Amino acid sequence: MGKTISVINQKGGVGKTTTAVNFAASLSALEKKVLLIDMDPQGNATSMSSIKEENFNTIYDMMADPEVLAVYPTKLPSLKVIPCNSDLTGAEIELLEVENREFVLKETLDKLKDKFDFIIIDSPPTLNILTVNNMIASDGIIIPIQCEYFALEGLSRIIETMKGIQKLNPAVEIYGILLTMFDKRVKLTFEVEDDVREHFGDLVFKTVIPRNVKLSESPSFGMPILLYDVASIGAKKYLELAEEFLERIK
Ligand code: ATP
Ligand code: MG
Repeated sequence: MGKTISVINQKGGVGKTTTAVNFAASLSALEKKVLLIDMDPQGNATSMSSIKEENFNTIYDMMADPEVLAVYPTKLPSLKVIPCNSDLTGAEIELLEVENREFVLKETLDKLKDKFDFIIIDSPPTLNILTVNNMIASDGIIIPIQCEYFALEGLSRIIETMKGIQKLNPAVEIYGILLTMFDKRVKLTFEVEDDVREHFGDLVFKTVIPRNVKLSESPSFGMPILLYDVASIGAKKYLELAEEFLERIK
């Protein structure tokens, strides 16, 4: 049975999508069968798919109608994508009307779980009903954080939310906290790293993702970093993260 992992942080621009896309691609490069799901109405992770048609189906369509399948190929053979678009914004409102509204994504994914080793979900920068659906559907979450001043406060809020979620899905755990956009030239970076490691110990991945311009360039080519520039430090570090993760969940 595959494992489902959501990448979550209610703060915007901390590297969620970059992590979801490149972690998923790295796992697939390590010969795992991986499905990436875009659960952010901004649709940034959707750029990974090689969708040709104009009116493609989305995760929103799948959640609304169990008959719909929206699994699309990518440039990597063992990485598939379920895309989304701004329709998903409507789902936030519609879900409020639905019974068991926190479980809609979980039910949608249950029939796909045994087809993949890992399902990776990208989340919007909120802790709304979509993010709650992500947490309920997941075996674990990865929290990317940027080493800046309010990082720890943000972390406490996610962990509080997780405690509420664990009443509905007791199995969900924190797989790890990931330091992203790490900048060695900034002194505060190291202070925040020390703080986070002191508070959260082994929960923090040893692997740290540095600021790397190749990582910010690759989305405009619709590619994970592994295809855009395999020799870059960004590619190396996301592969290292995938290896550390596989070791961790053994
Ligand atoms: P949102 O909350 O809006 O969904 P996000 O948390 O998904 O944002 P990303 O979109 O992954 O964050 O990253 C924000 C910006 O920073 C993007 O332009 C991305 O290309 C860039 N970026 C992410 N990680 C790195 C990195 N390690 N080095 C350099 N640039 C990065
Ligand atoms: Mg994003």
